[in-house]
Amino acid sequence: MENYVIEKLLDRKEIEGRIVQVAAQIDQDYRGENPIIAVVLKGGFVFAADLVRDIHTPFNVDFVGASSYKGTKSSGDIKITKDLDNPIGGRHVILVEDIVDTGLTLFNLKKLLEQRNPLSVKIATLLLKDIDRPFDLPVDYYAFKIPDKFVVGFGLDYNEMHRGLPYVGYLKAI
Ligand code: 5GP
Ligand code: MG
Repeated sequence: MENYVIEKLLDRKEIEGRIVQVAAQIDQDYRGENPIIAVVLKGGFVFAADLVRDIHTPFNVDFVGASSYKGTKSSGDIKITKDLDNPIGGRHVILVEDIVDTGLTLFNLKKLLEQRNPLSVKIATLLLKDIDRPFDLPVDYYAFKIPDKFVVGFGLDYNEMHRGLPYVGYLKAI
């Protein structure tokens, strides 16, 4: 897309309000469990930064980068571009993502991490696209369900741009 404007979908206040609620849910579910908050790079970093400041039960933070090979049907087709720094065996893990679209990336990443014998792997995402997902991926926490449009801001990019926008908007060609 060459010329476009960004139409606001979710504003900062609205997003921050929901993140507080998601954090409260996580707080309640993980009290005393010391989970690992595993931020999925790059897009998850903005949501995660807000989320962790509203979680009051103790946790650790780690980062993981992954990309899926789309167009193939077989699961397990995932490339870890940056692995977690610490072992997750015997720990609860919460994967923090910017958006779940088809769910392919998280489906594969979750499967791979489960081979390391964590106590559990759950998913927290800022945005959940309202589509029929071809993968059976339970999304445990989400802040917003959004229509099937390409969105940017709050960590999400278009060609590595717009990650810092303090709101979520969709691209509209002009
Ligand atoms: P999946 O289809 O595997 O759920 O999505 C994988 C990745 O594609 C997401 O983590 C995100 O980085 C990217 N993605 C999916 N939908 C969108 C979107 O609407 N906007 C942006 N900027 N990235 C998206
Ligand atoms: Mg992503």
